[in-house]
Amino acid sequence: TDQHAAADALRARRSAVIGPHSPLFYDQPLHVVSGQGVWLTSANGVDYLDAYNNVPHVGHCNPVVVRAIAEQAAKLNVHTRYLHEGVVEYGEMLLATFAPHLERVFFTNSGSEANELALRIARQHTGARGLLVTDFNYHGNTTSLAEMSTGLVVREPLGAHVRPLRIPDVLSDPRSQDVVLAEALREAADAIASLQAAGHGVSALLFDPLFTTEGLLHPPAGYVQGLAALVHGAGGLVIADEVQSGLGRSGSAFWGHELHDIQPDLVTMGKPLGNGHPLGGVVTTAALLEEFGSTNMYFNTFAGNPVSAAAGAAVLRETLGRELQAGAARLGEHARTALEELAAERPGVRAVRGTGLFFGLELVDDDGKASADRAKRVVEEMYRNGVLISRIGPKDNVLKIRPPMVFEQEHLHVLLDRLGASLDAVTEPEAVAR
Ligand code: PMP
Repeated sequence: TDQHAAADALRARRSAVIGPHSPLFYDQPLHVVSGQGVWLTSANGVDYLDAYNNVPHVGHCNPVVVRAIAEQAAKLNVHTRYLHEGVVEYGEMLLATFAPHLERVFFTNSGSEANELALRIARQHTGARGLLVTDFNYHGNTTSLAEMSTGLVVREPLGAHVRPLRIPDVLSDPRSQDVVLAEALREAADAIASLQAAGHGVSALLFDPLFTTEGLLHPPAGYVQGLAALVHGAGGLVIADEVQSGLGRSGSAFWGHELHDIQPDLVTMGKPLGNGHPLGGVVTTAALLEEFGSTNMYFNTFAGNPVSAAAGAAVLRETLGRELQAGAARLGEHARTALEELAAERPGVRAVRGTGLFFGLELVDDDGKASADRAKRVVEEMYRNGVLISRIGPKDNVLKIRPPMVFEQEHLHVLLDRLGASLDAVTEPEAVAR
């Protein structure tokens, strides 16, 4: 069609300027021109239900956020070495959402930058370099984050100071939770001992509280708490990466680490914080900020400038004012019940994962093996039917459903309806033979 031809031409131009390797979703990529709430509109005028994007936390082109950005941009934007009340006010608002011991914030422009800074703070505090991470993690695109990643495609060799931990998962391990827990904590203790024996020591544990990139794993109760205690016991710091799990996403907690009842030393943030405006940060204790700040001149030109602060404050006001965390809890419950039913009727779905407005369906083939192929076909089929989702996990077989937080019951109906139909469509014999 003409539309496909136009999209192909744009894709060719894109490749000619930024190269062919910058990833795009879908066999026939989506060419978007506008967004509103939970909807994205394509160049050919089709509305897609967005059940994938967490960056537009309070909705695409949220008018409150747009106005805040525009008004501040029209008044003043400047680097961060002048006093500005809006910046201070946003910091105060943000810190008020954290436990009392987390009382200082460094602003950054991205999640990568936040994690990089947190690692630096931990390294200087402990004098150690050793890092505990999860197997199949993704924390960003800098050198130190690439050399600790065992997940998405990275050519950087795994650092000698990095120990990836297998995260136990009660949904796929038939043994008792006690056995699973004890074994996983023993492995963590061994990893710590190995870092110490190699002379690296323990600088930090860096983890995503919802284990999202890892495939939305569900560790046994007490695992994260036990792990944090081991790390603290070895003199290391605990860093919770809330880039995906924060700002009420999980429904039951405003920050994901609260689900595990732990006290992290550092919390890193990004993606949803500015609703698409580049804004991230590191929240930490007064003591750690003082120690780092007094021995380094940490300067960040753009991070937390007046416009970014206006964006962040508007997102926070919308999130709190519209009680989006409670909404995610409520809708997440409905979604879970419906997804459990959908899974029970279909042998191709092995487990329903996630919490709040972040869920996953683990797909298997007819022999019960992880099926990336089936997951890819469901994602493509959903796209053809006007709903955007994706897939994650080391086997790429977990459907990733993580809509903007302004998703409502009527949108959930559409999503579930298309999901059921798409799952059925890809398991029909002719589709399998394709
Ligand atoms: N941490 C996590 C858990 C992420 O998912 C991502 C991005 N996918 C990052 C960090 C990196 O954030 P950014 O792309 O803003 O640098």
